[in-house]
Amino acid sequence: MDNFSIAIHGGAGTLVKGTMTPDKEIAYKSTLQKALDTAYDCLAQGGSSVDAVEKAVVFLENSTLFNAGKGSVFTAEGTHEMDAAIMEGATLHAGGVSLITGIKNPICLARDIMEKSEHVFLAGKGAMDFAISLGYTLKDASYFYDALRYEQWQQIKGTDSFQLDHSTKKNHKFGTVGAVAKDRNGTISAATSTGGMTNKKFGRIGDSSMIGSGTYANNKTCAVSCTGSGEFFIRGVTAYDVSCLMEYKNYSLQEATDEVILKRMVNLGGDGGLIAIDANGTIAMPFNTEGMYRGFKTSSGQEATAIYKD
Ligand code: ASP
Repeated sequence: MDNFSIAIHGGAGTLVKGTMTPDKEIAYKSTLQKALDTAYDCLAQGGSSVDAVEKAVVFLENSTLFNAGKGSVFTAEGTHEMDAAIMEGATLHAGGVSLITGIKNPICLARDIMEKSEHVFLAGKGAMDFAISLGYTLKDASYFYDALRYEQWQQIKGTDSFQLDHSTKKNHKFGTVGAVAKDRNGTISAATSTGGMTNKKFGRIGDSSMIGSGTYANNKTCAVSCTGSGEFFIRGVTAYDVSCLMEYKNYSLQEATDEVILKRMVNLGGDGGLIAIDANGTIAMPFNTEGMYRGFKTSSGQEATAIYKD
């Protein structure tokens, strides 16, 4: 089957319809569309699914509209600590990175960890030393600055609370980005990148960079990228849970993702959603929040971007 497809998300949350201006909605959708087109072109030219998910995520990391790379949320100390992960479903090779700052595209570092280190998961200073050893240059904090993210932080700075950048309160902005793809060779991959939660401290790490929680890919089952309240996705081992339902219980992609997001995650008390693709290129994008920035494009000519429930 040499069909190919790409799906992406820009975060799930309780965005209230009507709080967004038409201009902003157009900006979000056109950024999603450009990320899809970039990844789709890569797949059409024979690129691998790892290349495609990396390209889509880089595109979204470079936009301040999303909470990843440029435009990441602020920590309690007023810094940016970013997490990312990537996984390839044919070999189960994976790379994850956490608590990094100054790296323009965390997803590229996650891929370098997967391909150029002996390890799967690096964090903090060590991860940055590894990046520098590969020739990465560090961006100044001003590169990551976004006025709205700063304002979100100001509202809870000095308190013990931390929040998703797409909380129900005040700014209804979504954030974390992710992609899943199937290439012409039948390999599926997943990638996720995030700035995490506003006002986070104590080295808090969410699900995005954790293989099996926020990101997972296995050609036998599916590739998954999650977004939402990370603590719940870690406890639910959510991305791997979808894969397990398919592998051990023969669920279809849609059945498995609905079970995990619309039932198990709700029972656990977590908010969010995921995008997933199976080895046939079938896509599922369930979420239990009011909306999720999302889009997909397939070689059979189907494509769409959306924010709210249909
Ligand atoms: N899951 C991410 C985290 O907990 C946040 C998000 O998806 O917006 O770090």
